[in-house]
Amino acid sequence: MQSTVMIQLPERVKFIIDTIMKAGYEAYAVGGCIRDMILGRTPDDWDITTSAQPEQVKALFGRTIDTGIQHGTVTVMLDKEGFEVTTYRIDGEYEDSRHPKEVTFTSNLVEDLKRRDFTINAMAYNDEAGLVDVFEGMKDIERKVIRCVGDPLQRFGEDALRIMRAVRFSAQLGYEIETKTLEAMRELSPNLVFVSAERIQTELVKLLVSPHPEKLRVAYETEITKVILPEFDACMETQQNNPHHCYSVGEHTLKAMQEIRKDKALRLAMLFHDIGKPQTLTVDTEGIVHFHGHPAVSEKMTREILKRLKFDNNTIYMVTSLVRYHDYDVEPEPKCVRRAIMKAGEDIFPLLFEVKQADMRAQSGYMRKEKEERLASVRRVYEEIIAQGQCVSLKMLTLTGKDLIKEIGMPPGPEIGDMLKRLLDFVIEDPSRNEREILLKAAKEFQ
Ligand code: ATP
Ligand code: MG
Repeated sequence: MQSTVMIQLPERVKFIIDTIMKAGYEAYAVGGCIRDMILGRTPDDWDITTSAQPEQVKALFGRTIDTGIQHGTVTVMLDKEGFEVTTYRIDGEYEDSRHPKEVTFTSNLVEDLKRRDFTINAMAYNDEAGLVDVFEGMKDIERKVIRCVGDPLQRFGEDALRIMRAVRFSAQLGYEIETKTLEAMRELSPNLVFVSAERIQTELVKLLVSPHPEKLRVAYETEITKVILPEFDACMETQQNNPHHCYSVGEHTLKAMQEIRKDKALRLAMLFHDIGKPQTLTVDTEGIVHFHGHPAVSEKMTREILKRLKFDNNTIYMVTSLVRYHDYDVEPEPKCVRRAIMKAGEDIFPLLFEVKQADMRAQSGYMRKEKEERLASVRRVYEEIIAQGQCVSLKMLTLTGKDLIKEIGMPPGPEIGDMLKRLLDFVIEDPSRNEREILLKAAKEFQ
């Protein structure tokens, strides 16, 4: 049980562990933070596990919060930083593959480690005992393997979310999933229907923004996506026989995600940019496959899927906009680029360069050079427009609705908005027209 592994605990974590131990109880840093320290990663948070009961923990510290007292968790506050301290516990039977019906406190650390999902997440450490690694977590780190603690069928049966956590850790760490664990995932993935959309969303995002978003393929192979994202299964099963592509829609999607930086909206945009392709597929007389109108279908499906997975409105806006315009071909002419910025939005447009680049890099080499050069020309025009501060949105017009009412006596109402749009159109054609006097005159003429 003992080992020579040394882990440098932060001072505050040491202080909490020492305080609890001096009072005669056991205490260890446990789980994800130990895994991350061994891997040389910076832990997001430090969890502490202890033989002390929640009331006993509370008695030892000045400031605590009852975070999940019925599950044994108390947050100890040191200055403004909180540390979760949880009493050793055994999780009872699970209901609907979701929540443990009841938890029982125990005085045995090993019992607590047994309830944890994977061997790499089931190690504990304090300076006195060193590393406590009863399930060979270290060996699995060396072998780069995700493996359940105990019987995988039982563990996934208790909590189906663990099936997604397995893929997520495999993507974050670049590990393989051990065979029995993988087989159990495939067998029990239908139980994911019982898991809440919010918990699924969290795991999906962690998977997507990881160094290996292509591990979503494992989610397909284990039939996880069949439950949470059947639209992606259709992509995996759609071939694209046309010169631009050398992969199925699904494989192209996986590659496109790898080709873009680890940003939530960008990775989601790549995941969904072609999601409408299976529905729009047609084959011409030469046997060439086309997907006419796929961006609009993809956009609509993306909105439905993101809503189903309970994403926030800002993410939905960003991702659907990127999907909608991902295939938009802009002439590298100032007028056309200004119009495109206005349409897509000033916040969305610059991100489209990244989306288009990733999309291109995940295609066949056909006309790659021409495509890249065209994109670079559009980018040069875009940078010039921004550098010159040219008007591309209503809020950059030198004339406001109020001016229209005051200066030319337009009645308040929806006509004001329409007029401003016409004026913006007028300025997009020629940015030198963005002068108050010119616009007032034009407005009078348009009336
Ligand atoms: P991260 O913080 O990167 O999401 P983590 O492994 O630290 O990963 P947490 O949700 O912070 O995950 O949980 C801390 C620890 O609690 C885990 O390392 C694991 O030991 C245990 N744990 C978390 N979720 C589960 C679960 N669904 N089933 C079993 N054990 C779990
Ligand atoms: Mg954690």
